[in-house]
Amino acid sequence: MWVCPKCGRSFKNVDQSHYCGKPPATIEEYIAAQPEEAQDYLRQINAAIKASIPEAR
Ligand SMILES: [Zn+2]
Repeated sequence: MWVCPKCGRSFKNVDQSHYCGKPPATIEEYIAAQPEEAQDYLRQINAAIKASIPEAR
């Protein structure tokens, strides 16, 4: 059990990665919060999902 000192949420794993504060409102915000090396990959996934399921959010 670990409690984040910044936002006070508790997690099973120490230093669990999570959003401190409010979650991102959009996919683009979520992607922008990820490490730069992961962003291109996430954008490709996002584009692929949108292409196959246009109504997906
Ligand atoms: Zn936190």
